[in-house]
Amino acid sequence: MGFEIGKEKKRVVVIGGGIAGSLICYTLQFHADVVLIDPKEYFEIPWASLRAMVEPSFAKRSVINHSEYLTNARVITSTAINITDGEVLTEDGQQISYDYLVVSTGHKDSFPKTRAERLRQYQQESERIESAHSILIVGGGPTGVELASEIAVDFPGKKVKLVHRGSRLLEFVGHKASKKALDWLTKMGVEVILDQSVDLSSAEDGIYQTSRGETIAADCHFVCIGSPIGSSWLKETFLKDNLDSQGKLVVDENLRVKGHNNIFVIGDITNIPEMKQGYLAQQHALVAAKNLKLLMDGGKESKMATYKPGVAMAIISLGRREAVAQFPCFTMIGCLPGSIKSKDLFVGKTRKQLGLKPGPA
Ligand SMILES: Cc1cc2nc3c(=O)[nH]c(=O)nc-3n(C[C@H](O)[C@H](O)[C@H](O)COP(=O)(O)OP(=O)(O)OC[C@H]3O[C@@H](n4cnc5c(N)ncnc54)[C@H](O)[C@@H]3O)c2cc1C
Repeated sequence: MGFEIGKEKKRVVVIGGGIAGSLICYTLQFHADVVLIDPKEYFEIPWASLRAMVEPSFAKRSVINHSEYLTNARVITSTAINITDGEVLTEDGQQISYDYLVVSTGHKDSFPKTRAERLRQYQQESERIESAHSILIVGGGPTGVELASEIAVDFPGKKVKLVHRGSRLLEFVGHKASKKALDWLTKMGVEVILDQSVDLSSAEDGIYQTSRGETIAADCHFVCIGSPIGSSWLKETFLKDNLDSQGKLVVDENLRVKGHNNIFVIGDITNIPEMKQGYLAQQHALVAAKNLKLLMDGGKESKMATYKPGVAMAIISLGRREAVAQFPCFTMIGCLPGSIKSKDLFVGKTRKQLGLKPGPA
């Protein structure tokens, strides 16, 4: 690795091996000397995680070691803590030089380091769900709604309560889609409590207090409040002035950081005005890969591809067959949107994009 006949390959360092980072590494691995820095040894399809909590064997396909699809790249299992004009510093003390840098640290997660540990975690979570009579879910965004739906469909006898701080579920989509999801969950026997939060620190012996003083009894709880944008580590770096007020990196139409011609940013960490969705993060990865190939081949900057913000579209699965979908001009619920996402949760498709067989590993 590192040399073609007579031509030295450029060093491309990618920070963050999620949806966007994994795809750009896969796409560039034979064109450049690629290094991926990620705190975990594996890539995980985030929207498959709720199915894996009720069916742990599902994670065997959705949790994929980086080494499986990166056959010609180096993976450093650590966290990036600083960057300079030509180097990345990792938590475990390594200094990695780059010609081109890609920042794709969408969300900060706290998952275990190895695939085996992650699979064990799913086994334990599914055992907790199976043995509980009553379950409390805290948070009514996509994670909370999809988890409540998985449990309601697979374990119809269980008492599920979902408490959400906001005035409606799924606040990132329109009111109509929110209402459809609420009605569906209610019909499935899930009790949804809006405009309240749960004080988890005071929970004792399965008794939880809400912000309005209500008491909830549950055998176990799951916190589904979404992870923060993974940019806090950039606040002390030379890119600090490129962060907007929400902690997102400001990019130009070629997906580069303004004033830094060799730094690309892709995925949810960008300030692009669009719904934060994985399929858009994948588009960013493909556009940035194209631009990087052009620049590495000595092409003109003026020939670089541009990225236009994507249209507002989201599908939230409701168990194994149904889903609620937000399309640009309308919303839809039931088996039709469910047929797009809910059976396989795009796992086969995502695996194929990384050159892997869609079926079991
Ligand atoms: C429940 C749920 C359902 C969803 N359903 C869909 C769907 O159906 N379709 C869809 O398109 N999108 C969906 N999404 C949205 C999608 O998951 C995100 O848009 C996507 O994951 C963003 O990709 P990303 O690569 O930017 O960030 P991420 O996938 O969050 O990856 C970021 C990576 O960076 C790593 N990282 C963070 N900080 C550092 C650091 N300092 N150093 C090194 N590495 C670091 C993280 O560990 C992680 O591996 C869903 C999201 C949720 C929560």
